[in-house]
Amino acid sequence: MAFSLNKSATAFKEAKQYIPGGVNSPVRSFRGVGGTPPFIAKASGSRVYDIDGNEYIDYVGSWGPMILGHAHPEVTAELREAIERGTSYGAPTLIETELARLITEVVPSIELVRFVNSGTEATMSVLRLARAYTKRNKIVKFAGCYHGHHDSLLVKAGSGATTLGVPDSPGVPEAIASNTLTVDYNDAEGLSHLFAKQGEEIAAVIIEPVPGNMGLVLPKPGYLEKVRAITEHYGALLIFDEVMSGFRVAFGGAQEVYNISPDLTCLGKVIGGGLPVGAYGGRKDIMELIAPAGPVYQAGTLSGNPLAMTAGLATLRLLAHTDGFYEKITANTSALCAGMRAKAKECGFNFRFHQAGSLFGLFFNEQAVYDYNSAKRSDVTAFNIYFHAMLEQGIYFAPSQFEAAFMSGAHTQEDIEATIAASGNAFKKVAEY
Ligand code: PMP
Repeated sequence: MAFSLNKSATAFKEAKQYIPGGVNSPVRSFRGVGGTPPFIAKASGSRVYDIDGNEYIDYVGSWGPMILGHAHPEVTAELREAIERGTSYGAPTLIETELARLITEVVPSIELVRFVNSGTEATMSVLRLARAYTKRNKIVKFAGCYHGHHDSLLVKAGSGATTLGVPDSPGVPEAIASNTLTVDYNDAEGLSHLFAKQGEEIAAVIIEPVPGNMGLVLPKPGYLEKVRAITEHYGALLIFDEVMSGFRVAFGGAQEVYNISPDLTCLGKVIGGGLPVGAYGGRKDIMELIAPAGPVYQAGTLSGNPLAMTAGLATLRLLAHTDGFYEKITANTSALCAGMRAKAKECGFNFRFHQAGSLFGLFFNEQAVYDYNSAKRSDVTAFNIYFHAMLEQGIYFAPSQFEAAFMSGAHTQEDIEATIAASGNAFKKVAEY
C-alpha cells in the first residue's frame, strides 16, 4: 500500500478551524519540514500508529518521557488501578512522598523537591526561587537552550522557537527580557567575561547540561566544571535544567555523568511516565524558601496529581529494577548511530552524530557542532528531505533539525536494523538534491 496521509490531512484542516495552527504545541505542526503531520491513533512499545493506518518506529517518544516505550504493561496496569481511586484530590498523598524520596535518592544534589505540571512551570518557578534566595534579578541562559515558554526564558530559545524562526517571541516585555543575559554554550570564556562585568547582579545560570533543543549538543571536556566554578565564585546559583536529560542520559541524569552538583535542578518528562509533570528541587536551604515552608509563592491545583505520580513512580521503579537498562539502551543507541553513520558515509556524507545515553541526534553538517551558531549552519533542506524519506518508510523522527531523538527500552534489534536500512535509502535521496 502506498504511503498516504489523506485522513490526517483532513483532520489537520479541521483542527485548524478550532485550534491555532491545528496543534497544541508548535513543532507538531510540521511547520519546519512542511507537509501533513500524521494524526496519531494509538501507540504501543516502540511503535506509533496514525489514523491513516500507517505504523511507525518512533524515536520521538512524546519528546522524551516514553523511555520504557509506549503503554508499558506495568505502568498501564498501575494507572488503571489508580484511576479507580479517583483522579485528583487537591490534598497530600503518600505517593508524592514516595516519588520525592526516590528522586532525592537517585539525584543526590536534590534534597527537597516540589512537583509541578510541566517543565515550563518548573523553570519558571525555579527562577523566582533563585531570585528570592540571592536577592538579585538577572538570569543567564545559553543561546539555543530551551527551558519552556515563559517570558524570562523565551530569549534566544531553541526547540520549536528556533524551528519556527521566533527564538525571541513577540509579547515578551522588554523589561523582562532585559533581565535575561545570554551567552554561547561551550564558551566558558564568554561566561567568565559576562560575570566579570555583571556578576554581582546575576541570580542564577540556567543550563541544559547536555542541550537537546538545538539538536543534541555535547559539553566540551571541562566546560560544565568551569560553569560550576564561575557561578560559585560569584555567589550565583547553578540550575541544571534536566527536564530532558534527567533519568535519560543516565539514571542520575547529566549531573551523574559529569559529576557536577548544581544548586537546583529542574525535571520533567521521564519522571511523569507520559503524564503531565515537572519538578524542581535542590539544596534544602534554598528549597525551604518555597511556600508554605517559606515566603516564595508557588502552587498548583493539579500538582502532585495521583495519576502523574503513579506513572512516574512506576516508570522510575522499572528503570531502577531492570538490570542493565541504561547499558542496554545506550548500546542500542550507539549501534543505531554507528549504522546510520556508515550509511551516510556510503553516500559521501560525513555528518555529525551525537549521543548521550539514549539521547541522540544527527546534524546535516560536516563541521563540528558545539553551540547554537554551529548548529544553525546545518543543512535544513537536507534534513527535511531525509525526514520525509524516513517518515514514508515508517520511521518517525522529530520534525526538525533542531530536536533530539529518543531511544526506548522497547526498541528491538529489528527496529534498529530497519532504521539503518531506511536511513540508507533516505541518504541516497539527500545525495540526489
Ligand atoms: N526544559 C527542557 C530542557 C525541555 O526540553 C523542555 C521541553 N522540551 C522544557 C524545559 C519545557 O517542558 P514542558 O514542555 O513540559 O513545559
